[in-house]
Amino acid sequence: MHCCDVILYVRLTNEWFAKDTSRKVKTAFKAKFAAGQRIGAYAPIGYRKHPEIKNKLIIDEETRWIVEKIFDLAIHGRGAASITRILIAEKVPSPGFINFQRDGTFANIYAGASEEKSYAWTIAQVKSIMKDETYIGHTIHYRETNISFKNKRRIRKPQSEWVRVENTQEPIISEQVFQQVQEQIASRRRERKNGTTQIFAGLIKCADCGWSLAYGENRQNSKPYGYYHCSKNGQGTRQCSMHYIRYDVLYAYVLSRLQYWSGLVQHDEERLLKRLLNASDKGQAAARKKQAAELKKTEKRKAEVDALFSRMYEDWAAGRITEYNFNMLSGKYQSEQAELDGKIGQLQAAIAAENQSAADAEKWIALMKECVNPTELTAELLNTLIEKIVVHEAVKSEDGSREQEVEIFYRFIGKID
Ligand SMILES: [Zn+2]
Repeated sequence: MHCCDVILYVRLTNEWFAKDTSRKVKTAFKAKFAAGQRIGAYAPIGYRKHPEIKNKLIIDEETRWIVEKIFDLAIHGRGAASITRILIAEKVPSPGFINFQRDGTFANIYAGASEEKSYAWTIAQVKSIMKDETYIGHTIHYRETNISFKNKRRIRKPQSEWVRVENTQEPIISEQVFQQVQEQIASRRRERKNGTTQIFAGLIKCADCGWSLAYGENRQNSKPYGYYHCSKNGQGTRQCSMHYIRYDVLYAYVLSRLQYWSGLVQHDEERLLKRLLNASDKGQAAARKKQAAELKKTEKRKAEVDALFSRMYEDWAAGRITEYNFNMLSGKYQSEQAELDGKIGQLQAAIAAENQSAADAEKWIALMKECVNPTELTAELLNTLIEKIVVHEAVKSEDGSREQEVEIFYRFIGKID
């Protein structure tokens, strides 16, 4: 017998054996799927396996913030690549590293590896988290299958073959946020297809229903133009009104506002800061002064009462006042001390909150300074400075003119226009 025949024979046996077991295993899995159980070896990040109930997920309080952070960035218009960069820059531990720390899995990758390995996120990982319905409480099974045991390449099963079981665990992300992120993913895909850039993706919201506005194009016109409309209006749904706004109108308006604020930042930063603080809580300047004075007064009274109390204690110890009077007065002083302490705490908290808004305003000014005199809008510029843009339904007046309110909410400081 030739040596090669043996090898061939062994190979064949292996594949035969593999085929048979994989069929058996698949059948067992299918039964589990139907019962809404999950079969992964590790819980997806943000969740833990239930300590007693098999195949049940519970929220992992230690890591849920990572999932929340990813969706928060996504809702602010960041794509998977940009989010991945941020996670790496901020050294957010990756799911693999967290599993290693907890259970020692994948020690071959992480044990003794450089620090960078612990936050080596990949775009694919972030993408799959952004699309994972686990985070809104559902379980999807049978998303992938191996072509054959021999060929380890995984292929995606058509959606019709997925088994979807709803509400199998507590959600981390709200349905609305999740759907919005899916919309953004889809719109980015469309964007790449037709070559236009949708710099406002994820930023423009409907004033009435809160959903993102969708992008459309009017090609019938001799000069095709882009426009936005409420995504709850269109494609057969009339759950909200149109909220129509042309792309070029919105573009010009937002650019003019950013140019305006950029000008102020350069020419009179101090006045702008004052103005921002007033805008963030209108007419509070006088109240703020009063609070500071009140705090001073309260702290002074507290010191007096403390002094009175200790003097009285000395008097009692020296026998200069009676036990009866001591008890009466100490009760009075103690309740006043408690009251003053409470008031001081409240005033300090209120003042700290105002200092926070001052710090936020300074942060925004610092961002604004970096983009001097913008002449065009980019997704990066918009996402750096703006939290969201709220578009109201247009109002047509009798003379035929059209008026539409557009509110810009800036990051850190909110609405200032
Ligand atoms: Zn709407």
